[in-house]
Amino acid sequence: HGDSADTDETVRSVCPYCGVGCQIDYRLKDGKIAWVDGAPGPANESRLCVKGRFGFDYIAHPHRLTRPLIRREDAPPKGLNVDPADPWTHFREASWDEALDRAAGGLAVLRDRHGGAAVSGFGSAKCSNEEAYLFQKLIRQGFGHNNLDHCTRLCHASSVAALMENVGSGAVTASFNEIEHADIAIVIGANPTENHPVAATYFKQFVKRGGKLVVMDPRGQGLKRHAWRMLQFRPGTDVALLNALMCVVVEENLHDRQYIEGFTENFAEFADHIRDFTPEKMAPLCGVDPETLREVARAFAAARAGMIFWGMGVSQHIHGTDNSRCLIALALLCGHVGRPGTGLHPLRGQNNVQGASDAGLIPMVLPDYQSVTSGEARELFSSLWGGTEISPEPGLTVVEIIDAAHARRIKGMYVLGENPAMSDPDAAHAREALARLEHLVVQDVFLTETAMFADVILPAAAWPEKTGTVTNTNRTVQMGRPAVAPPGDARPDWEITRDLANRLGLGWTYAHPSEVYAEMAAGMPSLDHITWDRLEAQGAVTYPTTGPQDPGAAVVFGDGFPRPSGRARFAPARVTPPAEVPDDAFPMILTTGRMLEHWHTGAMTRRASTLDALEPEATVALHPQTLKKLGAWPGDLMEVETRRGAIRLSARSDRAVAEDMAFIPFAFVEAAANLLTNPALDPYGKIPEFKFAACRVRVAAPA
Ligand code: SF4
Repeated sequence: HGDSADTDETVRSVCPYCGVGCQIDYRLKDGKIAWVDGAPGPANESRLCVKGRFGFDYIAHPHRLTRPLIRREDAPPKGLNVDPADPWTHFREASWDEALDRAAGGLAVLRDRHGGAAVSGFGSAKCSNEEAYLFQKLIRQGFGHNNLDHCTRLCHASSVAALMENVGSGAVTASFNEIEHADIAIVIGANPTENHPVAATYFKQFVKRGGKLVVMDPRGQGLKRHAWRMLQFRPGTDVALLNALMCVVVEENLHDRQYIEGFTENFAEFADHIRDFTPEKMAPLCGVDPETLREVARAFAAARAGMIFWGMGVSQHIHGTDNSRCLIALALLCGHVGRPGTGLHPLRGQNNVQGASDAGLIPMVLPDYQSVTSGEARELFSSLWGGTEISPEPGLTVVEIIDAAHARRIKGMYVLGENPAMSDPDAAHAREALARLEHLVVQDVFLTETAMFADVILPAAAWPEKTGTVTNTNRTVQMGRPAVAPPGDARPDWEITRDLANRLGLGWTYAHPSEVYAEMAAGMPSLDHITWDRLEAQGAVTYPTTGPQDPGAAVVFGDGFPRPSGRARFAPARVTPPAEVPDDAFPMILTTGRMLEHWHTGAMTRRASTLDALEPEATVALHPQTLKKLGAWPGDLMEVETRRGAIRLSARSDRAVAEDMAFIPFAFVEAAANLLTNPALDPYGKIPEFKFAACRVRVAAPA
């Protein structure tokens, strides 16, 4: 950090990490980023966390891909056996022309030989809106089906399923900054001090001015000490806990009758259903005493304005959609939607997971969540895409695509910025699937674990090297600007995807991301009044907005919901156990997640020097009593095993973790947590159960 007088130039952009979407100022000296400052964006008001402030030097790491690579004829069998610093026994350098011809040619051969469904694609929530839009267009136009997806499937697919079903929109109903106007807020299954740190600062300010914060989580966490009540419930019992709260509200007549009559449907059936879930019956299941359940329910119902925030602790279960249905019902029951200081807010994970989803990078919907089954929606995009016939059949999701590749039904893939070899559940199965592909094209910044299985690797520009828009968790569309040039021959993703599309005969003529944005906005009513020029000038606009001077609505649905009836719906949910429960062989619960210093599969942050120095090593967090029982000390090498695999990593003592639980972050390839996770899916959102698997833990025997 230094004085701005020491720098040559400042470029304003957006942080490339989490969905908070902090605006940043890159301070440049001699053509390089010297440091990063927080900028006064609407979501962060100049605040930054450690990732935003210090996580930028990965762009100059020696592992950066700077030339296209093609797998050598004499390469060893595909596997995680490539050294990113010395990949030359597996790959050779190629010109862009050769690499793009090879990439597109291989996919086209599979399409022509086996039909379009033999090829699928994973796009990325780390790319811009324009890049996400082009990616889904390429698969839909070039291969004639909807088998494309991205990491939203692994984070909030179940939340979006429940929101679409019951509220009519998959985005948040209120920005997280609205907590300023709330009296009470529930944060459940989220760990904002680690995963949305700048949002957490607003939550702490809310407490300082007298707001009641209720934290609900199987793990203790950073917000616990700020909480009015901390409900450390048993993992996987969210529905029991939430139904008990709603039972109290209904039983004690605390529900908001006027709101329910005016804005909702299905209340009578829901009320009948919920009366069964008394706190006394649910307490033994969820592990929270009935009096605390009653106290929290009464406080939430009585509050003038309440908000609910949730994260992947809610969504990453086979009952993730039911969990979200309960949260929606709780807010509706108490009339906490559509006014200042009220609302439903699933905290989005990646910096552009909201935008990539809005842009249609989802197998069942076109941009703006317009169903592929809708003839009107297909007609709209067909007219924008020069008459392309769009398939009316919803496509496969992330885990289903990997399963189809494993079964050799999918034979070719185009993977842009995703790392399924690390991020998919049961990663050994995912890696086998990648190895079975006849043709894999990977486009990325680094030679990721997934790129190790590629036939062609296309080197992409990193976020600080390109222009594009991104949409944060608050529905705010923001402009990202390039601070430095990409290294070597690396190019922005939109350009690479365009050139690949043209080799598939699609005839795309985009010369700048603004042209892509204009086409995208023509098919997306959410972007009405949000032009590229406006974003250039204003930096950030929240949708929906009513005109060029309106900064956009922080709170929506005060006058009804975008459902056919105009009303939100109460959806009853029943308690279902996790897919795999502990038993004698695997007596503990494994849960996985992120950590403050590392981002997802670690491709960027483990190459950011400050962040890597802070957290250089994979650890398993265990309660001190558990360590004692196992005869282990912090730092000891442990073995954690599930029915799918075993990994070795150091023990970390952590009182926040329950005594029957182990927590492992999924950023470390040398001890990949997802070798252990369960691929069982939520039936609605098709999200895997990353948050619950049966495991056993022991001190590792010497190697
Ligand atoms: Fe970046 Fe999120 Fe940290 Fe903000 S809170 S600086 S967006 S990682």
